[in-house]
Parts: sequence; structure tokens; C-alpha cells
Amino acid sequence: MSPPDAPTDADAAPILHLRGPVLIGPEEELDGAWVVDGAIRHERPELPAGAEVREIDGFVVPGLADLHCHLGIGDGGGGTTLAEARAQALVDRDTGVLLIRDAGSIMDTSPLQQQQDLPRLIRCGRHLARTRRYLIGYADEVEPAGLPAAVTREARRGDGWVKLVGDWIDRGAGDLAPCWDAVDFVAAAEAAHAAGARITTHTFDEETLPLVLDAGFDCLEHATGLTDETIPRVAAAGVPVVTTLVNVDEFETYAAQGEAKFPAYAAHMRRLRGNRYDRTRDAYDAGVQLLVGTDAGGVLGHGIVHDELDELAACGLDGSTILDAAVWAPRRVLGAPGLEDGAPADLLVVPRDPRTDHRALRQRTHVVLGGRRVA
Ligand SMILES: [Zn+2]
Repeated sequence: MSPPDAPTDADAAPILHLRGPVLIGPEEELDGAWVVDGAIRHERPELPAGAEVREIDGFVVPGLADLHCHLGIGDGGGGTTLAEARAQALVDRDTGVLLIRDAGSIMDTSPLQQQQDLPRLIRCGRHLARTRRYLIGYADEVEPAGLPAAVTREARRGDGWVKLVGDWIDRGAGDLAPCWDAVDFVAAAEAAHAAGARITTHTFDEETLPLVLDAGFDCLEHATGLTDETIPRVAAAGVPVVTTLVNVDEFETYAAQGEAKFPAYAAHMRRLRGNRYDRTRDAYDAGVQLLVGTDAGGVLGHGIVHDELDELAACGLDGSTILDAAVWAPRRVLGAPGLEDGAPADLLVVPRDPRTDHRALRQRTHVVLGGRRVA
């Protein structure tokens, strides 16, 4: 007798014949491919007699990636239940997001990684922040003396990434400012790397970027403070930037909220917001690798990846570049599989070529995860 939860023949996913074009890289495509037993096959497989084969037409791409997502943070902040975190992941999945790097969660979302109908999840553990220098209740708040040990702990809890809040409003100074000294950023990066993890940082401010570049950080979140001086450094170091432009649009709200008490901060946030498209475009033109991130969870709701792609288009980026930031580059950075032969069949089917117009990704006819159609 099989256990009650075991898949039965009735659950077996049909074989899919994807008639393509199947985009297997930024420059490579196949005329067709198959999905058998949850995996992509480039060659026509031996089909058992009487096997059900579904013919599917359309452009096939790997699932979208969201490199800056927060599962397990409730609307308006605070922790949530595992059931709510699952519901958040399902909302993202149904928009075509099949690969998530969680950029900090209040709760342990690792049980979601066992749920085969959810996007693949790579966790950062909990945000690390300086005491009273971040949204209340989100982060483990530490002082410099405790930072390396906290980084080591989060490196063990996560899946190879640690997230440090690099800057926030300094209420004493009345403006954005780095939360740490240069030596602290160095110590944090060394602790992460010694634990075999990569480290990324939440950064809005111009002054933080030279510090984290000197310290050898591996990734930048938001990075609204990129300048003519730091853009070439980021490009030369090969450090990717996760854009979160939907969130940056919200800077006007933060500015308005802070205006009465912190006018310099408000003006700074408005300046960063006003430059967001030009700076993103400048970074791309200089060779900086952009990665799509929504910053969903907490302040912004889930399911907004297509709005983020529209924001990249507003920066003047073309469909191929947007597809790279949403699909190919995240897999290079995370070491996750795409649509190579034998890889898990995590893919979207869309009726038009997304390389010529990213909005084709809104018109999904199939979302396939592990070989099963989920949306
Ligand atoms: Zn975030």
C-alpha cells in the first residue's frame, strides 16, 4: 500500500511537446522541446505506447526570477504565518515568477522549499541592521561589535546569501547616511565569505557604495545612489544591481512623510527618485548587470513583477535586456538552471516574442513548474 500522499497515476503530468521557439539562452533557441517526468528534453523522447502528449504552441522561456522578494512579512510589516507566506509565493508564481531570492524574512520560510508547487526559493535569512536604523521589527538589529557573529549566524540559516542594511535615515543628522563604518562593512563581508555565503546590501545613499565596493560586497539592492564615480566601479567589479524601481517610485511617499522633521532627507529621497531612470540606464550602458527585484512583501504587495519590468522599459531598456535581467542573468548569478536538457521544466509559454516586447510576458498561456501546469 502506498502512503496517502503519494502521487498516483492519475496525478501523472502529461508529456508536453513545446513547439516553440524555445529560448534556451539570450542568443540561443530551439525549434521545439519536450517535457517528460518534470524535466525539459531537447530531443524527442521515446514515448511509451499510448502516452498522452499535449501539443503547445508559443514562445517558451524559463520562469521569471525575482531577486528581491520578501516572503513571510505581512502587509504593513511584521511576521506572518507559514500559510500566509505560502499564499504570497502562490501570488508571485501565478504571475510567472518561478525563482525567488528572498531578500530577508522575519520568519523561517525554509518549510516552503519542500512544497513542490511553489517557486524555487533561495533565502537570505533575516535582514541585519544597525540598532534603530531600519523599519521597526523587520531586522535583527546589532551594533558593530556584534555584526560579524550575526553575519555568520545568518549565513548558516540562509541559502548562501546574507542581507545587510547599509544605509538608512540618521535622525540625528536628518538625512540618509551609511549605518556602518568602512571597517564594519569589511568585517561583515569577511564573515559572510568565510561562511561560504555572499553578502548583499540595502543601499539608497551615494556614500555607502564606495564603502561596500571596497569591502567586496557581492550584490547591491536598490542602489539609487549610483554616481558617475561609482557606476564604473560597480561595472568593473562585476557586482550586479537589483533594481526595485516600483519601490523607488515610493520614495515620494517617504519624502512627504519625513518632510516636516527631516527636510534634507525628504529632498534627498526626491532627488534619488527623480534620477532613477537615468541612473539605471547609465548603469546598464556602463556594463552593470541589472537584475529584476520587486521588493514585494511588507510595504508593497506581491504579484507586481510585470510592473517592475515596465519600469525597466521606462528606463529605455529593450525587450532583450529586460528578459536578460528577469530570466538569464538571475540564473547566472544564482547558479540556477534554465532550460538546458534535463533541467527542471520551470517555464512560461507566451504568444509573442518577449525579446521584441517584454509585455508579451503578461500574456502567459502556460506557467509550468516541475513539468506541471500550475497557472
Ligand atoms: Zn526589500
